[in-house]
Amino acid sequence: RPLVTMKNVTKTFSSGTVALTGMNLSVEPGEFVSLLGPSGCGKSTALRIIAGLGGVTSGEIDWPSSKINSRGLPEGDISFVFQEPTLMPWQTVFGNVYLPLRLRGVPEKAAAPQIREALATVGLADFEKAYPRELSGGMKMRVSIARALVTKPKLLLMDEPFAALDEITRQKLNDDVLALWKERGIAVIFVTHSVFESAYLSSRIVVMKARPGRVHADFPLHTEIART
Ligand code: ADP
Ligand code: ADP
Repeated sequence: RPLVTMKNVTKTFSSGTVALTGMNLSVEPGEFVSLLGPSGCGKSTALRIIAGLGGVTSGEIDWPSSKINSRGLPEGDISFVFQEPTLMPWQTVFGNVYLPLRLRGVPEKAAAPQIREALATVGLADFEKAYPRELSGGMKMRVSIARALVTKPKLLLMDEPFAALDEITRQKLNDDVLALWKERGIAVIFVTHSVFESAYLSSRIVVMKARPGRVHADFPLHTEIART
């Protein structure tokens, strides 16, 4: 069963801007989907809708594999990584990664093993007591990835996550995300402007087009190449 399905989705903001019309997209477990397209074509809007962070004006959004909560949204199966790491400066790395579990009412003691596992996954096991200001841009991004992973999502949404980082850091993080995808079998939707990045990372490339925002092309890659 797909993790998420968008059927003929339209999104018109109250400003009158039509961000999406006739948007169709379905993502299966284990896929690594790159989402490409010009600025303003609705990539972020689509991602927010998939995350349950924004409603649709018409059409359908479904999460066939998820437990759905009382607000009709998927419970804990989808995590978001933004371009800005948005860490809380007054909290340690540990505290920042704890946040999603804290919001779910998980006591810190019970959460600690999961937090440490998520930090180890991104290579930051030794930094749990550090504060965000002590970390480089790449490390902050790793914390933000750990925070997304701590809830063990089935689908990871990344909106131009590494665009603000230098090339070398970016390449390292791409390799980390790739390793994570292979090892955990997590599905990823990765918004990028880089055709190189999309070819390097993904098992499928989806290209969107502006006015109206919708899927314009959708093609699989040879996953044996994408995965090695
Ligand atoms: P709506 O209520 O229009 O459906 P949302 O609730 O998703 O939309 O978000 C509306 C918010 O986004 C407002 O606070 C508005 O100030 C802000 N916003 C307005 N125009 C833009 C834009 N072009 N890009 C990003 N945010 C915008
Ligand atoms: P992309 O991520 O592909 O650059 P977006 O999804 O951010 O595109 O934006 C699609 C269109 O919707 C743009 O015209 C943008 O200005 C508009 N938009 C995005 N968010 C809002 C919002 N909250 N309120 C009003 N307009 C918005």
